[in-house]
Amino acid sequence: MQIFDRLCDWQKQRQQMRVKNLFLGFVPTMGALHAGHQALMEKSQKENDHTLVSIFVNPTQFNNPKDLSSYPRQLESDLKILENTGVSYVLLPQYEEIYADNYRFRVCENSLSQKLCGAYREGHFDGVLTVVLKLLQLAQADRAYFGEKDFQQYLLISQMAQNFFLSTEICAVPTVREANGLAMSSRNNLLTQEERQKASMIYKLLQSSLSLAEIQRELEQEGFQVEYLTEWNERRFIAAYLGSVRLIDNVPLSQAMAYIEVEKSMETEQ
Ligand code: AMP
Repeated sequence: MQIFDRLCDWQKQRQQMRVKNLFLGFVPTMGALHAGHQALMEKSQKENDHTLVSIFVNPTQFNNPKDLSSYPRQLESDLKILENTGVSYVLLPQYEEIYADNYRFRVCENSLSQKLCGAYREGHFDGVLTVVLKLLQLAQADRAYFGEKDFQQYLLISQMAQNFFLSTEICAVPTVREANGLAMSSRNNLLTQEERQKASMIYKLLQSSLSLAEIQRELEQEGFQVEYLTEWNERRFIAAYLGSVRLIDNVPLSQAMAYIEVEKSMETEQ
């Protein structure tokens, strides 16, 4: 595994790979790696000759300075995970190199980025789209992998790639969950064991036959603060705080409906 912390060293390496006509897959992350990230890497490894993983905690996408300072950072154990997963290349960029322009140039989308998470996190998706465009340009990958856990982010990136004629194919990977259903997230590290168990309610309720209002009531009774809970584009989306930790999740409505059907048939059997 080769580690690059200077962009020009990576760019030289990428140039050499071109001569050999090898396929490159790219997985951008903010580190504190878990099985969700690993699913993206494994898909990339299956579909490409080499995989590049970047770790960069991107300050421009954090609208809340406390969230940025408390974001888990664990480079040493991340590097072990990357080594064990067998990825070929790791990019560890510095803020000064990524934002040599001090964020003068940015990508702004003015429709989908204002809904759901965007309605509550001002400037968040500008930060995400800007850093992802920079990283995609640096990686020059054939394919890049994004998780459905951040479905709105995946949609925006996929639409950006299409509308800026990027040649990297944007691929989605289904959400990886803990055994209790909680969507894996680096922020779960900030929850106590008890809170992790409680947080699994989100996924269970999202798929239940309860109305959105009933789901919200149940969560609030258990101490969650629901930021939004809504249906859009055939999916149910939620963002909710447990203490100071913000959790998001989403499921396709067809999945929710399938559960509703199972619940109904169990009721008629009883
Ligand atoms: P992050 O490090 O949180 O910025 O995530 C990097 C990538 O991993 C993004 O494309 C996320 O959507 C994806 N990801 C994070 N958690 C999960 C998960 N539980 N399942 C699938 N993909 C995930």
